Formats: sequence, C-alpha cells, structure tokens
Amino acid sequence: MIPDSLTIDSVRSSIQERTTTALALAEAHYARIQKEDGEIGAYLTLCKERALEQADRIDRMAAEGKPLPPLAGVPVAIKDVMSTCGVRTTAGSKSLAHYIPPYDCTAVAHMEAAGAVVLGKTNCDEFAMGSSNENSAFKPVRNPRDLSRVPGGSSGGSAAAVAADMAVVALGSDTGGSIRQPASFCGVVGLMPTYGRVSRYGLIAFASSLDHIGPLTRTVKDAAIVLRTIAGRDPVDSTSADVPVPDYVAELKKPIRGLKLGIAKEYFSDGLDDEVRHSVESAIDKVKSLGCELAPVSLPHTPYSIPTYYLIATAEASSNLARYDGVRYSYRAPGVKSLSEMYRRSRDEGFGAEVKRRIMLGTYALSAGYYDAYYLKAQKVRTLLTRDFEEAFRKVDAIVTPTSPTAAFRLGEKSNDPLAMYLADIYTVTADLAGIPGISIPCGETKEKLPIGLQILGKHFDESTILRVANAYEKAA
Ligand code: GLN
Repeated sequence: MIPDSLTIDSVRSSIQERTTTALALAEAHYARIQKEDGEIGAYLTLCKERALEQADRIDRMAAEGKPLPPLAGVPVAIKDVMSTCGVRTTAGSKSLAHYIPPYDCTAVAHMEAAGAVVLGKTNCDEFAMGSSNENSAFKPVRNPRDLSRVPGGSSGGSAAAVAADMAVVALGSDTGGSIRQPASFCGVVGLMPTYGRVSRYGLIAFASSLDHIGPLTRTVKDAAIVLRTIAGRDPVDSTSADVPVPDYVAELKKPIRGLKLGIAKEYFSDGLDDEVRHSVESAIDKVKSLGCELAPVSLPHTPYSIPTYYLIATAEASSNLARYDGVRYSYRAPGVKSLSEMYRRSRDEGFGAEVKRRIMLGTYALSAGYYDAYYLKAQKVRTLLTRDFEEAFRKVDAIVTPTSPTAAFRLGEKSNDPLAMYLADIYTVTADLAGIPGISIPCGETKEKLPIGLQILGKHFDESTILRVANAYEKAA
C-alpha cells in the first residue's frame, strides 16, 4: 500500500482484510519520510522501534481475526509539545533538546490505545510560539506545496507531515490558531476542540487557559474519528470537562439543511486578501446551496483580540516557562560559577529570541503597577469577546469565516517583523480566547496553487455541528 491520500478507514479495512499489514504501512511511511523530509523538515524525532512494535501488535490481532480498534495501524505524527514516554520531546526548543519524558501525554496514550502507530514527533515553533514554524530551534519546516513558503505554525510539522503523505493523521496544539492556520496553509483539515474537551495532561504548557490539543487530517471524517478517540474527562487534568462525548462520526450523517450560519463582517475587513475572500465567499455560497441559511452576526470586540491574546498568552507563558531553569530537566549552561549565573545563562542560551520576547512582554504585563492596566484589562476584554460569541450563537448555529487573511507567505517574509506576524492571527485567536471550537477545511487555491482555508466556529462543546457542516461542504466540493 503506497502512502498516498490514505484515510483512517482505508487503512483499517485493508489491514483487517489483510491486503496490507500495519508493518508494511509503517515501513512505507518511513521510506517516504526518508525520501521527502530532508527538504520539508516536518519531523524532529522518529520512534521507529515503538512504531514497529505497535504495528506488529495490530498485525497479530488481524491475523487472529480479532476486530480491530478504530485507529488500527494508522500511522500518526505527534507535535513535539506532547510528551511521549521514552521518546525525546523538545517543544522545538534547545532548552529541551535532550528531554526524555517519563510518561505519555493522555491524548497520545488514547491514540495508541486505539491502535495508532506513532511514527515520530513533529517540528514546531519553539514552545508553540509562532505562526510560521521559523521559530523552531532546530530547523524551519517548508510548505510541501511550495518549498519557498512556510507551512504555518506552530503545528507546521504536523500539517506538513499530513499534507506530504508522511503520516495519515497528526496531533497538533492550538493556543491562538496553531492547528487551524497551518491546516489552512498546507491544504488539510485542522480541528481545535472546545477548551476542556481534550485533556492537556502531558502537553508542554504555553498558555494554560488557551492551550488545546486537536487533530490535523485529510478528511473531516478522520478529524471526527480522532476527536472521538482523544476527547473526554481525564482525572489528571482538572480543566478537562466532564461532558459526555458524542459519537462525532455518527453525527456527521445528520442533515445540515436548515442550520443557520453566521457571517461576521469583522472577519471580512481590510487586510483580507482578495483571492482568499473570493474562495471563502464561494465556499459560503456552496454551503448555502446545501440548505443552510445565512445570517449576519456582529462580533464587535474582534479588533481588540490580537492585543488581548498577546497579553494573556505571554503572561501565562512567562509563568509557565519559569520552570526551565537548568536545575532539573532543561538545558544547563556549562562552566557556571554561581546559582544565579546558572539560571541566567541557562535561560539565555536555552531560549530563542521569540520566546525571550514573550517572557519579557508577559512579565511586564504581570508586574506590579502594570497588572491592572494590561493583564487585568485583557482579561476583561476576553470576557467581552466571549460574550460577543455567546450573543451571536443565540441567533446562529455556527459562524463561517476565513481561517487566515492570506495564503502561505514566504520564509523570511515576516520573521523580522513580530507585529506583522502577530496581526496575521486575527481570525484564529478569538476562538481560543472564547474557548469555543473551530475547524479549518480546504476551500480552494490561489492562482499560485496555494491552499485557502474556510473556518467554521461553533458553540462550546458543539463540535458535532461544525464537523457536520465541514463534512457536507467537503463532500459537495
Ligand atoms: N501564532 C500564535 C502565537 O504565536 C498562536 C500559536 C499557537 O496557537 N500555539 O502565539
């Protein structure tokens, strides 16, 4: 079986029917990685031994005629911010270049328990801070569609791995768009679940009140299968929600006729590229032709979302990253003469420029005298942004928007201008701040053949509706 546009069901059934084996499939993916990934740079670490052991386990089940679990033999890639027991987990940072976690992230454990074969860990912006993957301490990732362009970030390695057939599905994390934006840039599906829907246990924290784990896949159905696998309450993550997990795959079959979709003018304002606007508008027309009703909604606090996000995310990051002090598991500078020199130099040499910028911004926003003016104020605006959505969702079932104002930009194009990089997150950070789910699905290409993404936002814990709309569009398009 050639690793070409495979889906979870196609893999599982061919293993069940013995037309291929999980082992052959894993080997074929490693061969593809060997061939392609030198140029793309999607993977940081491969875990072949672990993968082949799991594949063998699945093949023995298939040989014994046992019913296979939902992700049996499916080759998956895991963003390198999720802990994997015994497998190096770097968060894209020099400070964790040699860190080997002693336990598995809950989401990864769920994937493996469902039969998935973890091929390796994918490249990302350092501590998931970035929108282009250029902030990885190890190497940038290149967009498989055009190697001169970024794959998006921070889950750029996960998106590129799926787009280049170097994994069937991947897990990523989204704090301000990091699943949806790279999905959009690479032409794959990316789903950010509701905050608390998926356990964050074992996820290396960037901004704890904004971090979400979710799937990057080729099809909406695969995203539904992965979400069903990883969702649910986890006793070791107190922020994971005790809300029943629906059968997202069964829900896909419900008709979308009669659903009301909101269009927010704030998401179609200046700065939106014409080609993106055109594709997104045609996609919206398509969904309308499938029987959905369109209604204008207003999300008036949207213009404040970028400053709000970049205050709250950096404040939380400055606190979360205090633990990388060189004492226990992170990088320790050699030849230091005092404890304070060890802290200073270890952090100075271990962190890259963007991470340092965020620690400084966040520390400033939290410091006495500035806390009320920045951090506290940002929290208040966050509440207003959340209320905007709650108000809108009284009228509509979902909201459709572009995922990103532009298609993939060139490597180096924004890397020296942090503000320009931050501003491009305008359509994605709002959902993280409000804690609502969002999905990005491919909805066309630019003249230069670069993918464009359509974003669908939903009510808290209503992933089913956005998956349904996305699935209907995918089928019709
Ligand atoms: N681009 C955003 C940032 O740099 C989002 C990152 C993310 O979602 N992890 O913070």
